[in-house]
Formats: sequence, structure tokens, C-alpha cells
Amino acid sequence: MFEKLEFAQKPKKGETWDVAIIGSGPSALTAAIYTTRGAASTIILGGENWGGQLKLTTVVDNFPGFHEGIQGPELMDRMRFQAERFGAEFVEKNVVRVDFKKKPFEIYTDEAIRSNSVIIATGARNKWLGISGEQEFLGRGVATCAPCDAPFYKDKIVAVVGGGDSALTEALVLTKYASKVYVIHRRDQFRASFAMQEKARKNARIEFLWNTEVIEIMGSSVVEKLKIKNNKTYEEGELLVNGIFIAIGHTPASELFVGQVDIDERGYIIVHDNTKTSVEGVFAAGEIQDAYYRQAITSAGFGCMAAMDALLYLDKNIPTW
Ligand code: NDP
Repeated sequence: MFEKLEFAQKPKKGETWDVAIIGSGPSALTAAIYTTRGAASTIILGGENWGGQLKLTTVVDNFPGFHEGIQGPELMDRMRFQAERFGAEFVEKNVVRVDFKKKPFEIYTDEAIRSNSVIIATGARNKWLGISGEQEFLGRGVATCAPCDAPFYKDKIVAVVGGGDSALTEALVLTKYASKVYVIHRRDQFRASFAMQEKARKNARIEFLWNTEVIEIMGSSVVEKLKIKNNKTYEEGELLVNGIFIAIGHTPASELFVGQVDIDERGYIIVHDNTKTSVEGVFAAGEIQDAYYRQAITSAGFGCMAAMDALLYLDKNIPTW
């Protein structure tokens, strides 16, 4: 057992917190580790299904410090315990509304929570095809992160679904290990940048299947084949693969913040000067503002940055802190 250290006194019911963190993935929990250690009273509004995307994965092999790998859910439990060890209050309730026009800011679950600063770390959800076998084989051949899982497919055959930069990036990462990578795209033109397309086209291990949709993922204990359909000729066929990476985009979980902070046309919260949103005192970290890196370690890094920015904000703006 580790010694519990509380660096900040928790406010009494109805009083104002120094920092409220909305979300409970690596960015949220890392932010909490930093704000509590910075002596700011911190409440994490983690949601009923807390833990983010890593709660849905199996082994994580690329998080520094765990040389034998660690299960995603265990990694999240450890981050939560670490934040709680330093005095963060973790609430397993969903946030239903926020009001950043008020000061202190207000966040509503089944009660109103007031805070002098807010870190939004609600992350993003992977888009899914919604086909048979997809959820059933998740972690057993169905994957969403090539930098995480590519080494499992050494000398194997894999498919990547999607036509954007994510799909081609995933495919290129996979070619370092897999003997063959099919890129399956529903149209005959990529959405990905020209440079990325050129790079993929030059890679002899990649084969493109145009106008093609995956309609079923099949196997016994792990993925063995895909049922595919050409949406121009309606011809159906089977493709033998050991794995399938779904790379058809992400949806940032920003619905709660519409009209509260600036959000771009894709739904990502717009940040300036690293983690600052359009509202002073409200910060955003992780996949809610990052469409590009989307790794546990980069989200954790963004969480650390947002925490440091929030502590600086409290220092400069909240005389009682
Ligand atoms: P995008 O939205 O750009 O692309 C999603 C792709 O998935 C599209 O080709 C789309 O097809 C396809 N798709 C969507 N839904 C389905 C479906 N139900 N069935 C089959 N296919 C589907 O998302 P990305 O994640 O690729 O990229 C997001 C952002 O991040 C972009 O701005 C991108 O440039 C950026 N990014 C940049 C990288 C880089 O520069 N290295 C790496 C990764 C991302 P269709 O084209 O027909 O709509």
C-alpha cells in the first residue's frame, strides 16, 4: 500500500473546487495527478463508464514503464489510484450540462458543481462499421491502433478499412510487420492527403480494394476472414486475413460544450497556446482537441500540459487560491 497524500483540502459540499476535470482517460487522470500535486483541490467527473478507450483494449505494449505490457483497463485503474492517492475526488457520474458563462464555472451531474477552472478531457470515440463480428472479435483480430498492435501481425495478412490519412498511416505502419496489407475503401478515391497516397501507392506490400465494403468479420476464436462486397458490381467474396484495422475516423465527445467553447467543423475543441480554449480558465486536453496523435502517451502529455496551464491560471486569477 502506498501512503495517501492530500496536498489540497477538499471543499465542503456546495463550495468551489480549484479544478474540475471532465473525462477519465489518460489525459484527464494525468491532469489530476498534476493538479493535486500542485495543491489544487480537484474533482474528476469521470462518467458512469469511466476510463475511456483504454478500458476497451487488451494489452498495451507502447506505454513507457511497462516493459512486459499492461492490460488497458489495469493501466487506467492505476492512473485513477494515482490521482486519488494525491487527493483527487473521483465521481462516477455523467455530466449533463455545463455553464462556462458563469464564474465560478458550473458543471451539472445530478447536482451542480462549481469550479474556478475546468479541464475538458472527454476524448473521442472510434467510429465503427457496425457489422457482424466487429465487436465480437475486438482485441482478437479487430483493432484500431496500428502503432499499438502492428507487432502482433508479423508475417501475417491484415486489412485496413478507410480512405483517410488515418487508414493510410495505419497501413504504412502495418507494412513494417505484416506480409500483406489490404486497404479496403468504399469509394474509388482517397480522402487522404496526396503525399500519404503516394507513399502508400509506392509500398509493394499494400494492395488497394476500391469500391469495396466489409460486410462481415468471420473466424472461430480469432479473425480468419472477411466477407466483402464491391458496391459497383455487387459482387461478393471472401478475403483471408488475420486481422482488420478499422480506421474510418473518430467522433470527438464534444456535444456538451457546443455554444460554450469554440469547436471546429469536425467537432474538435479549438485550442490556442497549447491547451487554452476560447474561454479563459477552461482548458482542453487529449483527443477532444487532438485529431492527429491520438495515443495514450500523447493524451497523458496533453493532460499534464493542461494541468500546468490551469495551475498558472489559478495563480494569476484566483486571489483566494
Ligand atoms: P477522415 O474522416 O479523414 O477519413 C475517414 C475515412 O473513412 C474516409 O475515407 C471515409 O470514406 C471512410 N469511412 C467513414 N465512414 C465509413 C464507413 N461507415 N464505412 C467505410 N468507410 C468509412 O478520418 P481520419 O481519421 O482518416 O482523419 C481525421 C483527421 O486527422 C484528418 O484531418 C486527417 O488529415 C488527420 N490525420 C492526419 C494524419 C497525417 O497527416 N499523418 C494521420 C491521421 C489523421 P469517404 O472518403 O468515402 O468519406
